[in-house]
Amino acid sequence: MNKTLLADALGSPSAFGQSQFAFMRGNAFEARVKADGGAELLRLVHEKLDPRAEPPAAGVVPDLGAAGPEGRTARTALALREASAAGTWTLLDHPLLALEVAGSPAFLEPDAVVVHPDGSWTVVEIKSFPMLDGSADAAKVGAAARQSAVYVLALERVAARLDPAPEVRHTVLLVCPKDFSNLPTASAVDVRKQRSVTSRQLDRLVRVEDIAETLPEGTCFAPDLPPAELTAAVESVPATYAPECLSACELAFHCRARSRAQGAVTALGRSLRAELGSLASVDDVLSAARGTSGDPEDPTVAALRRAAALRAEALGTPGPARGAGNGATSHDAPADDARPAMAQPTGAACP
Ligand code: SF4
Repeated sequence: MNKTLLADALGSPSAFGQSQFAFMRGNAFEARVKADGGAELLRLVHEKLDPRAEPPAAGVVPDLGAAGPEGRTARTALALREASAAGTWTLLDHPLLALEVAGSPAFLEPDAVVVHPDGSWTVVEIKSFPMLDGSADAAKVGAAARQSAVYVLALERVAARLDPAPEVRHTVLLVCPKDFSNLPTASAVDVRKQRSVTSRQLDRLVRVEDIAETLPEGTCFAPDLPPAELTAAVESVPATYAPECLSACELAFHCRARSRAQGAVTALGRSLRAELGSLASVDDVLSAARGTSGDPEDPTVAALRRAAALRAEALGTPGPARGAGNGATSHDAPADDARPAMAQPTGAACP
């Protein structure tokens, strides 16, 4: 399913992708990093990850061209096997890997994979955000680490089919422009944690077939369906939107609008959702804070009532209903205006 087309058809086009300028700049930087048979890239891998190995003189860059994604993944697997057996520095430029996600194959294309002389494999991610004085934006590095961890898992599937199985290194190389120049610099990033988390998440994913079985007979996601029919089909699949979706999924704007309309607290962030326990909607939270619902023994409810009472006291407005167990100031007047000191569902808290 092409989610970009689906998002367009739903009237919530994806904001995915870079501006044309950023795209061209990123491509130019990647081409520079991989120029001369990947000489600079291999030098960086040697320097940062494998300084004891013989320095790369002239790396091998095999042709990975083949028909269709299955052909390309098979060609990549063959090139990896041959390079490991040869024991020479080898650069695989945009290899194609397959990984089973929820029972269906997903095709992944890392920027590069380097085969070391000892036969081990390293994932290389090339990004266009700058590395200033040796460090880059932590959020962007984290996103690159999560992305690379998925490639590591896919490479491990390839390695497991070989005998002997080559080592897939859990430290990847992140290559970025140095300071504000166009010169490449690199940093080794340990992705063991991200790999474990992703692996657990993949194991827990419900299979696509199982989700399909729960859908109404004849449910179809063809983008050329009438908008109302398409919206109903998409909404028949349960989704739990979180602000993180904005950087990961083409349907994020659609799901955000739906989540806000439902007043779901996940729209305000997963950490807040976790703190609110069983209170899943903003209405539930406000009602618990006012003292009109919720178990006063529940620590979350008690904390909300305390916060609402303190806020009301500070503003001189009516607080939560008397006897609601807020453990703080209460007032005689009805509590309709009492609101906890939390973000409102206007999206202000969402990026
Ligand atoms: S909930 Fe998030 S990940 Fe799931 S479809 Fe919606 S935007 Fe995509």
